[in-house]
Amino acid sequence: MAQSNPDLLVIGGGSGGLATAKRAASYGARVLLVEGDRLGGTCVIRGCIPKKLMFFAASYAHSAHDAAAYGWRSSGPAELDWPALVAARDAEVGRLEGVHERLLAEAGVELLHGRARLCGPGSVQVDGREIKADRVLLATGSRPVLPTLPGVEHAITSDGFFELAEQPARAVVVGAGYIAVELAGVLSALGTDTSLVYRRELPLRGFDEDIRAELAERMGDSGIKLCANSVVEGIERGDGGLTVQLKSGEQASEITSDVVLYATGRKPDTEGLGLEAVGVATGPQGQVLVDEGLRSNVEGVFAVGDLTGRVMLTPVAIQEGRALADREFGGKDSVMDYEGIPTAVFSEPPIATVGLSEEQARERWGENGVRACSTRFNPLLHSLTGRRAPVFMKLVVRESDDTVVGCHMTGPDAPEIIQGVAVAMKAGATKAQFDATVGIHPSSAEELVTL
Ligand code: FAD
Ligand code: NDP
Repeated sequence: MAQSNPDLLVIGGGSGGLATAKRAASYGARVLLVEGDRLGGTCVIRGCIPKKLMFFAASYAHSAHDAAAYGWRSSGPAELDWPALVAARDAEVGRLEGVHERLLAEAGVELLHGRARLCGPGSVQVDGREIKADRVLLATGSRPVLPTLPGVEHAITSDGFFELAEQPARAVVVGAGYIAVELAGVLSALGTDTSLVYRRELPLRGFDEDIRAELAERMGDSGIKLCANSVVEGIERGDGGLTVQLKSGEQASEITSDVVLYATGRKPDTEGLGLEAVGVATGPQGQVLVDEGLRSNVEGVFAVGDLTGRVMLTPVAIQEGRALADREFGGKDSVMDYEGIPTAVFSEPPIATVGLSEEQARERWGENGVRACSTRFNPLLHSLTGRRAPVFMKLVVRESDDTVVGCHMTGPDAPEIIQGVAVAMKAGATKAQFDATVGIHPSSAEELVTL
């Protein structure tokens, strides 16, 4: 039985909603959280976690070859058991769902399963029942968007990727953002014949140009068929599978595939949320517009995470939620700081980055106002394997005060290394301080202090 008049009613039990609910409850607030699907949201159920588990699976693709160079002998080539992988992954996701349910209960947050809808100021309907609350938090996340084109109903999105019971022999992945390059890398490494179709010269628009070029080269080396400057005109189902019709300039071509996976962006999920009933203002992508305090234009209605259409990352949704709870219930003066948010793309190889790209820095401080130092090397690991898998690193430095304003890396350890660099950059580290730091030898990371 849901409590009446909670201090906070949270709609959505994903990264942002869970973090806000627990932090608010820690200050003694009476909190009710309503979730319409599985607890954990995109990140736990069909995003970061199952994706990273698939990425781990993919990272073993070369291990038999590499291990042999280090003297390990095996009786034959290893084979992937896709159903076993999927079963293990899904069991872990189920376990985590249970962990989140337990943590909510321990925090004193009441959980109600059902679809919630705003029906008036401070008033929410859950499956037909009305609940009044002092404050309402909208944390309903985002969902995939597909363009309109003939046959698009044959395509799946990342949600469908996690439902594949069998490994596709062939896959076409459309898009060149985070999800497209990550899932193309996983599929290809696991042995699926993978094509990546994207409409620009290079993947990952917005990332440092050298990183984009490096990733394209590495993905090509790994066997992914790159169809740059290409658009899909239509998809047809036939006897041999799905035929994807492509256009690149004036040139038309076709690829036949078992799976067509669209990863062409996500939009805020406001469907059936009743925003119009209380007049919550939204932007052109349907995102809930909020101020620096994560307040919507309607008194007592707040929003965090993907729904606000700002930075669609789990740690951002969590930090926004905590800042909100600290301020509204903990009497603190907390606001979310969006400067210097590090991010990783779990592509093959992974990318991690923090701060400005070289291009963004030059645009801000001029051609002579910025210097970039970079290196590219085949790591020591591959001195025995003979495999070419170069690591690339770049520091972007503001000339006027020697501050490091950007750090970009591709390579297996990039996400682990850049998290630490992000702390140094948050503290305002200069290039001279990087240079004065003693390296850890032998490692790839030491190159960052000798650039
Ligand atoms: P969500 O986590 O999506 O939670 C929203 C919740 O609201 C859902 O559980 C939904 O069921 C519920 N809901 C919606 N409407 C209603 C309603 N009316 N009533 C009740 N409940 C409702 N980010 C990273 O930082 N690192 C990664 O590696 C990463 N990988 C990703 C991989 C994929 C394939 C995808 C799709 C995303 C990934 N992300 C990653 C992004 C990350 O998952 C999101 O930024 C994050 O989950 C957003 O949290 P949120 O709380 O805003 O929304
Ligand atoms: P992104 O916004 O990252 O990328 C969308 C891609 O789709 C771009 O390459 C874009 O091309 C392309 N695109 C858009 N519309 C079309 C179209 N009509 N036809 C062809 N291509 C099109 O979205 P994703 O779906 O990859 O991911 C959504 C968000 O989820 C990410 O931005 C990120 O915030 C989060 N995420 C984070 C991850 C992580 O932290 N590791 C992993 C996965 C997701 P163009 O550049 O030309 O516009």
